Amino acid sequence: MRIAIVADIHSNLEAFEAVLGHAETGGPIERLWCLGDVVGYGPDPGACIDLLRRYSHVSVAGNHDLAAIGRMGTEEFNPVAAEAAHWTTRQLSADGRKYLEEMPFVVKEGDFTLVHGTLRHPEWEYLLSSEQAQAHFRLQETPYSLVGHSHVPFVAVEASGRPPAMVALADGDELELGEERLVINPGGVGQPRDGDPRAAYALYESDAHTVALHRVEYDIGATQRKMEAAGLPRYLIERLSHGR
Ligand code: ZN
Repeated sequence: MRIAIVADIHSNLEAFEAVLGHAETGGPIERLWCLGDVVGYGPDPGACIDLLRRYSHVSVAGNHDLAAIGRMGTEEFNPVAAEAAHWTTRQLSADGRKYLEEMPFVVKEGDFTLVHGTLRHPEWEYLLSSEQAQAHFRLQETPYSLVGHSHVPFVAVEASGRPPAMVALADGDELELGEERLVINPGGVGQPRDGDPRAAYALYESDAHTVALHRVEYDIGATQRKMEAAGLPRYLIERLSHGR
């Protein structure tokens, strides 16, 4: 089975379409796993929800999905993120809102657990350090787990007697799934933050037992023009050019 793993689409339709197109060049996507933050920041929340729903998929809830439906306050958000969250709320159709309201926080699919942040704090903790990975592993009941939220692709490998190793993932890196327990972050589709502005996603091929990380160019200018037309904050428009 070919399964595309996406995180942090953030209402960026051009990036999401580019990623799906890239994944589909090698064969059909049979299942799509989404790690949350389908909406927030970008100009196309409704279209991104609709595109996701065209696939056999599952998506966990991210903090921006929850903020858009008022289930999480925006007090902890920085001012531009809060402004974009309020704008997103106004764009949602009743159907789109209902879809976000029904998202689970943690989902198991075969050997994988899917969560936006960490298993300690599904909707808001960033998994950035080896200590956080260790705490997350203690709660992980499957061999592998998938997280988003930081928009930075990495793999954490569990090791006995010492903290997990955290390794950055670059375009074309392929992990062979074996005995070692892993946490994988496929990076962000719609707002990468590792200095590479290209959209990021991962492809899991269950027959080959591999997960490969890919970076895909998309029309950043088109997304930025839509954001300008929508009056979204300048800082959010500019950061897409830098991947920060
Ligand atoms: Zn996000």
